[in-house]
Amino acid sequence: MADGFSQTAILAAIASALAMSAIVAVRYLLSSGGFALATRAVRPGLYERLGPQIGSEIRWSLLSALIYGVPAGVVAWGWQEHGWTRIYTDAAAFPLWWMPVSLLVYLFAHDTWFYWTHRWMHAPRPFRIAHAVHHASRPPTAWAAMAFHPIEAVTGAVVIPALLFIVPIHVVMLGLVLTIMTVMGVTNHMGWEIFPRALVHSRLGGGLITASHHQLHHEKYRCNYGLYFRFWDRLCGTDAGVAQPGWDGR
Ligand SMILES: [Zn+2]
Ligand SMILES: [Zn+2]
Repeated sequence: MADGFSQTAILAAIASALAMSAIVAVRYLLSSGGFALATRAVRPGLYERLGPQIGSEIRWSLLSALIYGVPAGVVAWGWQEHGWTRIYTDAAAFPLWWMPVSLLVYLFAHDTWFYWTHRWMHAPRPFRIAHAVHHASRPPTAWAAMAFHPIEAVTGAVVIPALLFIVPIHVVMLGLVLTIMTVMGVTNHMGWEIFPRALVHSRLGGGLITASHHQLHHEKYRCNYGLYFRFWDRLCGTDAGVAQPGWDGR
């Protein structure tokens, strides 16, 4: 081939994308399934009568997993085969303080991207075409973590792979970013607050988004757009605070 990528390389990249889609799907089923089981133990009956909704949450989420796997798998292949990205494995390659800072940079950059694309998707046309799928979860459940229309899934799938080309990150910190992303995506939708009330209402908790905050987004729509931090909501006047203590029957 004229420009460097052989047919075998392209097949390997496609295989990596499919493998990553399968990994993301399994990660979704285990994390959402795990917290759904926890919900059954802690809040028996909370998802009662939500069976049909949960079915569609799972179908949209598995489609999203397929989409998320494509950029992630291609970038993982490029990292392994061609040294793409700024992922590093030698802890001494950057000062040690960069590890926690890089974690915060990734979370903040992802949060910023999410806030603005999310606000855009609440405009009437994008909402009708795409974002209505996510808001069909009323109330959301642990299975809604990846329940997105393909258009929304694409906007979500590209952000971390793109950052990997710009911001250096140790592979362990990357694992931590993905773990936080997965756990918060599930717990913010599961219909009850998993974090202690003292934390949610503390100064530190006041800057973070948990279920008590995102639940209000699903109730009121035009507020609380953020992903991890309340920074942009506060700055832009879209923060409606957290649901009243006891909203989740606790
Ligand atoms: Zn949501
Ligand atoms: Zn929304």
